[in-house]
Amino acid sequence: MNRDGPGDRSGDPAATPGALSTLAGVRVYLRTFGCTYNAGDSWKLAEILRAQGCNLVSDPALADAIVLNTCTVVGKTERKVLRELRRHAQRPLYVTGCMPLVQEEAIGAVCSPVTIHPREIHDAYAKVGSVPHGPVGVVQACRGCLGSCTYCITRLARGPLESRSLRDVTRETARLVGAGAVEVRLTGQDLGAWGRDTGQSLADLLRSLAALSGRFMVRPGMMNPATLYPVMDSIAEAFTLPKVFSSLHLPVQSGSGTILGKMGRGYSPDQVVSIVERFERAAPGFLLTTDVICGFPGETGGDFSKTLALLRRIRPDRVNVTRYSPRPGTPASLEKDMPDRIKKERSRRLRTLAEEIAREKNAPWKGRTVPVMITESIRPGSSMGRTREYRGVVLEGDLCPGTVLPVRLVEDRTYYFTGEPA
Ligand code: SF4
Repeated sequence: MNRDGPGDRSGDPAATPGALSTLAGVRVYLRTFGCTYNAGDSWKLAEILRAQGCNLVSDPALADAIVLNTCTVVGKTERKVLRELRRHAQRPLYVTGCMPLVQEEAIGAVCSPVTIHPREIHDAYAKVGSVPHGPVGVVQACRGCLGSCTYCITRLARGPLESRSLRDVTRETARLVGAGAVEVRLTGQDLGAWGRDTGQSLADLLRSLAALSGRFMVRPGMMNPATLYPVMDSIAEAFTLPKVFSSLHLPVQSGSGTILGKMGRGYSPDQVVSIVERFERAAPGFLLTTDVICGFPGETGGDFSKTLALLRRIRPDRVNVTRYSPRPGTPASLEKDMPDRIKKERSRRLRTLAEEIAREKNAPWKGRTVPVMITESIRPGSSMGRTREYRGVVLEGDLCPGTVLPVRLVEDRTYYFTGEPA
């Protein structure tokens, strides 16, 4: 474990050593912003707090202390987090996550919180001994990445790639399954890079998890095309394992080779197409999710058309559209930003195309009866299930997580179906 990498800020003056131990026997309001990796940190944090005699409350007004697990991946999220910090500035306030690692001054301008370094959460969790109970579990297989994307502030916060060992990840997964998890979200800033720093193979990891006993499924997290492309054959085959959802989250960001070059992404649109075709051969009908940034500095109308063309070619089931926003400390933030009206128009066109493709891809599924595993309760009287491809199916009733039943897909709601037991 490299503690002195550029993004490793364990010596960060803002991080208060032992900050966590000051939260004992009190009522805590914990709010999480951002990605699945951050959710994993919050679940660990909740387990630690409970072990320290704290009660977690859902209303900040009832709390003795406020903990915010922050994200700053885009400007919009940064503004949301700062608003929340300002709101609680006069309370006992703690921050963790990415923002205190890269934007101390922005935080210091609105409040004076105690910083809990994410590493402190991991170190303390290792000593707790219990695991979060519940139908959905998060396993953080690695943190940091190998990338040098010019727009990305996460890289500056989380640092270079650090993969946990296959044995550690498998053991944590087994413990979560033992505590009731039926869906295990395997995550990292770039899961595709897992093991590249330790000589391990992601396909081996997926096989190791799939060999565990118990009724559960693994949802593989986001994989950068640059790290996935060289190992796509083995990963595509691992997606056929019975306990692995055939769901690929592949952020393409742009369909223009010129813009991908400026972003420092490290792959070409053709390589993206090859990856998608390879997964389609191994796991026909797999679920494809992608991310697109529109309005990156220098993106011409022609570049944007190439992005639309790439989406028409790879036909994703879901597209997360982000309008580019300059992030402090990143190379791209030095470039001339584009007027908002252009970004707005391009994101509108992207969403329209994304929904069109999603509906076309959903059409053959409607009316079919397929096996669905119940994964969680949405609210009393409503349950979420998942198909083999991780398509969401909403069913009436309080169904038991882990139950697998044949379900007729009744209505297409674009990003999920309603269903009824067949
Ligand atoms: S792969 Fe790129 S976008 Fe992803 S965390 Fe790393 S630098 Fe950021």
